[in-house]
Amino acid sequence: MSQEKRRQRRNQYLLERLSWPDIQRRIENGSRTVILPIGAVEQHGPHLPLGTDSFIGESLGCRLAAELGDALVAPVIRVGVSEEHTSFSGTISVGIDALFETIRGHVRSVATHGVETVVLLPTHGGNIPPVRTIAPELADELPETTVVPIADLDRYTKAMNRALSEVGIEIDEPVIHAGATETAAMLAIEPDLVSMEDADPGHEGDVSYARILNHGFEAVTESGVLGDPTVATTEAGEHLLSVLTEEFSDWIHSERTAANP
Ligand SMILES: [Zn+2]
Repeated sequence: MSQEKRRQRRNQYLLERLSWPDIQRRIENGSRTVILPIGAVEQHGPHLPLGTDSFIGESLGCRLAAELGDALVAPVIRVGVSEEHTSFSGTISVGIDALFETIRGHVRSVATHGVETVVLLPTHGGNIPPVRTIAPELADELPETTVVPIADLDRYTKAMNRALSEVGIEIDEPVIHAGATETAAMLAIEPDLVSMEDADPGHEGDVSYARILNHGFEAVTESGVLGDPTVATTEAGEHLLSVLTEEFSDWIHSERTAANP
């Protein structure tokens, strides 16, 4: 997908790039789902920018909105819970309570004016547990709104590994961070921000997520990379984003149908 098409898509679906009458009209015409991407600003090795998860979230959110045909995209929550990366320069983490409050504020705000479904789309593993905690709480608070958390790390990881395998890149990234999957996605989304000459394999093979959370990423990988980013390609990234878009739009469809049979 060209950068021009990507720009047009952002202008078409992101709330912050639309005027209120545009948004009112779109909702009246049936766009009653809002997708809220929840990213991070944290180290992604020497070859990727800190905003990787946020850029992926925005791109995936816009692709999902285009695929669904009746959705808009809220501004990405760019900073989340990234305590395990804070020993690397530039990483910002606001902690879990601040993230909870930020998600609450976003969902309460968008769940008005006729919006029926809010999709929580975390694209950073560390934000998945907070999203799983807050989604049922928000669903109770807002009985008129269907809250759909796309927060199943296992499903996410399997879809990403499968997507790369389908384009001939055989990897097994048990914990996805700055390796082939995210590097491929970034080559497709923001190639100017990827420095392949600085890409080197990091820790490969099994890794304990609990160890990472307790001792930080530096306990398992000096560069901050898990897996081998050097095998990533733009084509693989495009395919990966298409597979995730299809997987998650099916997920949203079935959750909306279950809520309004
Ligand atoms: Zn990431």
